[in-house]
Amino acid sequence: MPLEIQLPGQTNGSTGRIVGIDLGTTNSLVAYVDHGVAKIIEGADGPLVPSVVTLDDYGAVMAVGNSARERAMVEASHTVYSVKRLMGKSFQDVKKESGMLSYRLVPADEGLIRIQIGTKLYTPIELSSFVLLELKKRAEAYLEEPVTRAVITVPAYFNDAQRHATKDAGRLAGLDVLRIVNEPTAAALAYGLDRKNDGTVAVYDFGGGTFDISILKIKNGIFEVLSTNGDTYLGGDDIDRRLMELFISQIQHMAPAFTPTPEQLQKIRRVAEQTKVGLSSAGHMVVEINLPEIGIAYRRNITLQELERIAKSVIERTRKPCEDALRDAKVTAEDLDEVVLVGGSTRMPMVKALVHEIFERAPHDELNPEETVALGAAIQADVLAGQTKDVLLLDVTPLSLGIETMGGMMSTIIPRNTTIPTKVTETYTTFADNQTGVEVNVFQGERDFVHDNRHLASFTLKGIPPLPAGAAKVEVTFLIDADGILQVHARETHTGIEQEVEVKPSNGLTDEEIERMLRESIEQAPADIAARRMVEAKTEAQRLLGATEKVLGQLRRGQLSISAAKLKQIDVASVIDALYALRRAANSNDVPEIVKLHEALERATEPLAHEIMNASLAEALTGKTVEQV
Ligand code: AMP
Repeated sequence: MPLEIQLPGQTNGSTGRIVGIDLGTTNSLVAYVDHGVAKIIEGADGPLVPSVVTLDDYGAVMAVGNSARERAMVEASHTVYSVKRLMGKSFQDVKKESGMLSYRLVPADEGLIRIQIGTKLYTPIELSSFVLLELKKRAEAYLEEPVTRAVITVPAYFNDAQRHATKDAGRLAGLDVLRIVNEPTAAALAYGLDRKNDGTVAVYDFGGGTFDISILKIKNGIFEVLSTNGDTYLGGDDIDRRLMELFISQIQHMAPAFTPTPEQLQKIRRVAEQTKVGLSSAGHMVVEINLPEIGIAYRRNITLQELERIAKSVIERTRKPCEDALRDAKVTAEDLDEVVLVGGSTRMPMVKALVHEIFERAPHDELNPEETVALGAAIQADVLAGQTKDVLLLDVTPLSLGIETMGGMMSTIIPRNTTIPTKVTETYTTFADNQTGVEVNVFQGERDFVHDNRHLASFTLKGIPPLPAGAAKVEVTFLIDADGILQVHARETHTGIEQEVEVKPSNGLTDEEIERMLRESIEQAPADIAARRMVEAKTEAQRLLGATEKVLGQLRRGQLSISAAKLKQIDVASVIDALYALRRAANSNDVPEIVKLHEALERATEPLAHEIMNASLAEALTGKTVEQV
């Protein structure tokens, strides 16, 4: 029986169009299908809505899109851009990058991120929702009807938390997000590649601030991402910056005291981008630059050749990720059936030439590269609305599936929204010495602890050989077939013993239950993170305590072949002190203290571990020739 997924909010009888949204790092777009043809919904200022928001000190949204972008340099601390980089990430994840942003990031409870504007703090989800709301309003004004349902695209490498965050941003903007679609998949859909023969497709996406390359396999209308690669800080903006530097150095040559104000920098940036765009249009070999706003008579011509010389090293940086992506996908350029261009920067003739060279074929560039992903999202939306019948509806898992690991934690194996059929294998190890059986408990849900999720099935894998903790390896495979039936398979790799159960994940879960579980996973996220940290710290501490106690016991019983001289050099007393200290802390709930004492015990046991390693190595080599080793 096929798995029928009625996603949250997609109630029977809903009316109105479903729009497709490309929520980009630099620009966003909204599209819909009109009588079978996908179209971008344009505003008065064109098709693109820059993903930029300006806020005042008190929480009011002052501008979104082009008008916000104009303010970016003048009101830098009040203007938020590139928020997509922060979606679904912790403060720790983005600490390194925060220096590159002109607005202030502050850590919130439990490692979450807040963006401070004036007196107000915002989550990345809220800020993204302002861009989505702008797109929703644009669509409503154009279609002259309420728009409440959407398909939104995300990069193929987005993890579950990032997809989740994108979906939540949609909800905040008053949109039911019926499907999250991978950007390269949407691009391939826009070109109708799913309807051609099965094949392998490279999607080269070079935008304003990011570069992504994805290799997809299309088989029977199902898209599989074989590999992704790229550079999250590489794009047309880098070329603009180089042009700006050139202009400023030339202006300073004429007027050495010239230091641009933020307003002047903004003007120079705009002229740099216009110059690049002008020279990328067919037949334009030279562009005149004139910057009257800076108060210095700076006028000059720049040729396509000059631009290409400046841009070459930026563009060349996309080559290696492409080669790596091909290698990871285990295909060669020759194996590819199609290459698709996405992103505004692929309009540059030099970029097209490089793509042609790397992939040994002319890429598809018939559609506007900024619009391709949104058009594909609109096609997917139309499929969901039941209008397009000849495209196979790709099914997804509505909730994550995983197994219970130590401390009652959920280890997700198949994240929600994964297209089915799918097969994923993860390897787990035993926790205790001589453990001969492993209980496999299968759960469904988004929370960190299994007791908050839904139990689907359990079975025991017996007959594991008695081995030290961590030595036995159990491979757990989740396979969901096209009918939505989940099979769970566990196999111990040393002995090959295996066990299997069949589970029906969709049975009995109503829309309301899915909705409630998703809502709770958002509300409980900070509590979950804290609890997860605690369990992890305690579990790791127990593991180290067990291992240290075992070695100390062997040492006491003289079972370790370490010479007396070496033993004298080891400070066993300090190991014992550190062991007691960690054991005491492990009984408390003080996570920083447990982590600190864990590290201290690790340091204290280092010399001992070193000697044991040397001793066992010597033992293993005794009586063996070099060739036998
Ligand atoms: P995207 O992120 O896909 O919206 O692409 C934005 C980037 O594309 C910006 O760096 C733009 O300057 C660049 N771009 C747009 N049109 C052109 C063009 N005709 N030639 C070169 N770059 C362009």
